[in-house]
Amino acid sequence: MPGIEIPRHLLPADGRFGCGPSKVRPEAVGSLAAQASSLLGTSHRQATVRDLVGRLQDGLRQLFSLPEEYEVVLGNGGTTAFWDAATFSLIESRSQHLSFGEFSSKFAAAAKAAPHLAEPEIIVSEPGTHPVARADRGIDAYALTHNETSTGVATEIARPRDDDGQVADGLVLVDATSAAGGLRVDPAEFDAYYFAPQKCFGSDGGLFAALCSPAAVERIERTERWAPAFLDLKIALSNSRQRQTYNTPALATIFLFAEQVEWFNSGGGLEFAAGRADASAAVIYAWAEASSYARPFVAVPSERSHVVATIDFDDSLEAARVAKVLRENGIVDTEPYRKLGRNQLRIALFPTIEAADVEALTSCIDYVVEQL
Ligand SMILES: *Cc1c(COP(=O)(O)O)cnc(C)c1O
Repeated sequence: MPGIEIPRHLLPADGRFGCGPSKVRPEAVGSLAAQASSLLGTSHRQATVRDLVGRLQDGLRQLFSLPEEYEVVLGNGGTTAFWDAATFSLIESRSQHLSFGEFSSKFAAAAKAAPHLAEPEIIVSEPGTHPVARADRGIDAYALTHNETSTGVATEIARPRDDDGQVADGLVLVDATSAAGGLRVDPAEFDAYYFAPQKCFGSDGGLFAALCSPAAVERIERTERWAPAFLDLKIALSNSRQRQTYNTPALATIFLFAEQVEWFNSGGGLEFAAGRADASAAVIYAWAEASSYARPFVAVPSERSHVVATIDFDDSLEAARVAKVLRENGIVDTEPYRKLGRNQLRIALFPTIEAADVEALTSCIDYVVEQL
């Protein structure tokens, strides 16, 4: 029995608020179960799975309104593998990275460690803020992060400019792992918009998708340096064109991913999905601003993420204890990002999550705080 029992009428219908893996829609799981015997355990080189991969690629094209000549590249290993692949196939010599949290700093570290690349330029800002990219002739790839999941800071995706307003000619590579499918974006502003499906796409991890512009495709095809086959985007690209992955993918992951993309598209596309995140964001930030003991961690309102909220607590209250009591009551994964080390809760607002459940969560937090 939990020490503090939250009254049942206050509890959300679904207690999953983690930022990845995140809530998977029960309808998608049901649909997987219904189709399992003709899908799971079948060859990924045959029509059933390749048609599913094709459906996923077409669905992503529609969701992001991709221009005809953009390509949807898929591969195994998730975003972390994509970073390593990018150091071989997308960064020609020197990259610029905006580093403002755990995830954005990791790609910067990968580029810095790659012996075949020049020293990257890394522009850092404090957690809870974000730096701004600067166009520079010596840079051939700009690494941006649409949403820094560790801190709850969202950015606007735009091609970097120099002091005279000239647009950069390097590739714009965007880590959109927690943003894709939850925040709005214009494909004209990126060359590779890459992500994994365990966040807004309510699926499992282990896969990456990269929406690539003709310039990114050209860079991938032109690069001649050796790359391990698993990290060679040329190989990923040629397999993706045949609606398959280089090695065996997780079929359930692809299925749940495609289901979510189709759910978004049938509801009205990216505007529908982002609108759901907006509704949850409105609830959580209004509550935090009105609260006597909690407040949004991100100071600038326009930078507060609509897919991941970080809420600071007064020093007199231990957020970790609140998260623990919530967990004992079936409300999971509200703990802060461990390395950030702040007295806060981190709450996913992905489109899968109901705004009404976020509302219920705030009542539960208030109840627990009162009891503590
Ligand atoms: C979750 C996340 C990652 C890591 O994704 P993996 O698929 O686990 O490699 C990278 N970047 C951002 C912004 C994330 O939110």
